[in-house]
Amino acid sequence: MILENKPLKPAPLLVVVASFDPNGNGKNDYDENNVAPLYDKESPIYGEQWAISKPQEVYDRFFGGEKSLMNFYKEMTHDKFWFYPVPIDHPDENSLDSGVLFVTVNIPHPSALRNTGDYNNETAAAKAIAEIVKACDPYIDFAKYDTDGDGVVRPTDLAIVILNAGYDRSSAEADNSFSTIICENGPTPSHRFMVHGTSQPTDVTMRGGVKVVRVSNMGEYRSVKVGLMTIGTPAHELAHNLGAQDMYSRWTPPADAEPRWPTPRRFTLMCSGNHICDGSMPAYLDPYQRVYFGWADETVAEEDGVYTLHSTLSGKYNVLKVTTPNPDEYFICEIRLKEGFETFLDNDENSKGGVLVWHVDEKINEEWFLKAQCVSSNRPNGQRHDLGNALKPRLGMEEIRDDDGNFVKFGPLYAEGSRASESYFFKSDDENTATFKSELYCGAASGSYSLNVFPEGVSKDFKLHIEVLDEPGEEMRVKVTRKDK
Ligand SMILES: [Zn+2]
Repeated sequence: MILENKPLKPAPLLVVVASFDPNGNGKNDYDENNVAPLYDKESPIYGEQWAISKPQEVYDRFFGGEKSLMNFYKEMTHDKFWFYPVPIDHPDENSLDSGVLFVTVNIPHPSALRNTGDYNNETAAAKAIAEIVKACDPYIDFAKYDTDGDGVVRPTDLAIVILNAGYDRSSAEADNSFSTIICENGPTPSHRFMVHGTSQPTDVTMRGGVKVVRVSNMGEYRSVKVGLMTIGTPAHELAHNLGAQDMYSRWTPPADAEPRWPTPRRFTLMCSGNHICDGSMPAYLDPYQRVYFGWADETVAEEDGVYTLHSTLSGKYNVLKVTTPNPDEYFICEIRLKEGFETFLDNDENSKGGVLVWHVDEKINEEWFLKAQCVSSNRPNGQRHDLGNALKPRLGMEEIRDDDGNFVKFGPLYAEGSRASESYFFKSDDENTATFKSELYCGAASGSYSLNVFPEGVSKDFKLHIEVLDEPGEEMRVKVTRKDK
């Protein structure tokens, strides 16, 4: 896939922490001895929820600390792209001078608002976002970020993350003894109403006539255990704002879910990688999307031979694209080491990382990538399709064995209890850790080995071997060999 406007210069970011004060008296009416009015639809304080973050803490998480969201993007992109704190042009006595704004809107939390008269789920979320964005208008001169003069402030001109007072539903454990209604069962009495982290379109006209059209929206709290929202979910949602796609099984009904479907799991920010260390040490994007954004150098291996890979922290991260006889399908090699933000990429302290091998199918991606279904296990046309961006782990796929119990090849799904630390290829004393052999791996839906589709004239015996010649390190060589039989 090709992205026309690649994010290759840093963008300002506004983090908005929003409190909900439906009776508009400007103070928190939560009373631990009388919480019922917060949940009573007839009460003037129904859906009231106040943020309790401190401005400097929020600032440090996003911009200030060593493991900030800003540094995450800098590290992942080699300083090609990051989010920096937007200047607050007109601060009041409580505002920081950049990056973070606290606003209060005189409506109930959106998950309460949806129960009142004129709103439903969708329109309540849209109304709350619009009110919150509008409340930022006096503080920032949005018009100056419309650099191309088309009246629209895009996320690459000025990105916005809204932290809604209350929990984020994607990571907080609900209190089902209070309620089973989704997003109305937050884990503490003062914060029962929750939102789901999303990247949301909006349409708010600001001073100077410019429109804000998209924001990332999530809860202020991650969970009772972790406390305030960490950087993983914002990094994921902001990547969406730039054009990244989810790499987990979207739109698969729970009854039809296949828990062993071979999504990339921890190895991308757009799958479970954003939750590593409770979201404080998220994984980078998968190499396919790092190339998509223009954040990685790509070497194309049209010929067999030895090629050199570089790790992210070496400052020379590159991906190797290994072509196949099917022009739509290729393999990607990259180094992933347990360093920097990826120190906890897997849970095995003996693992150092190594080379990951991915199988890309652009035919699948052309149809499904922009619909966020390129790796999904759903059945969009009544049946599942192969993955457009599939990790091929060294071990961890289900194993097909012969009658004597000898390993023959891998099946289409993950094995039960597969371990992320067994995904990498690298040179070691054990020769089995070094070589990827395509003929052992099949498409998740097609069950076709080596390639998902063999074009006319291409031998079904085509296979690709990638031998890693070095131990895990910032520079690793791989030897590419294609075979017809
Ligand atoms: Zn997502």
